Amino acid sequence: MGKKDDKKGGNSSKQIANRDNFARLSYLYQLSNHFTTSSSPTSNSQHLQTILARGYDRNLDLSSKRTLTKLSPSVKRTICKKCHVMLIPGMTMSIRIENNSKSHDPKNDVLAYRCLTCGECQRFPIGMDREYVPFFERGYVEETESNQK
Ligand SMILES: [Zn+2]
Repeated sequence: MGKKDDKKGGNSSKQIANRDNFARLSYLYQLSNHFTTSSSPTSNSQHLQTILARGYDRNLDLSSKRTLTKLSPSVKRTICKKCHVMLIPGMTMSIRIENNSKSHDPKNDVLAYRCLTCGECQRFPIGMDREYVPFFERGYVEETESNQK
């Protein structure tokens, strides 16, 4: 009985399960983002920063798998699965629309994110439904639309 009352008290203050895991993952992501985007005058320290950033991203990936903490797809899609480089358009990755079908039907358009470090490619079919919004962006879109009205 006493334990139940304690739990109720905890829920009222909106607790997040495994808060420390999320805090660690968020910190690693921010560190990696900082070291990837910060420019430095000498190329040697830039190289070291890239290695550091990749190390943090690898650590992020490993600890999310070890603690079974699910990363948001918007975070997951910015990390290369092969070499763990943070993918930033125009800096560490290229984005283009490919269509390798014989008929060149616009329905077969594929959005391709290519990592410039290792060449690994992530492909997202976008031709079938141009208005499609991924599930992790839907809540945000509805929220911004309702704010405008
Ligand atoms: Zn890569």
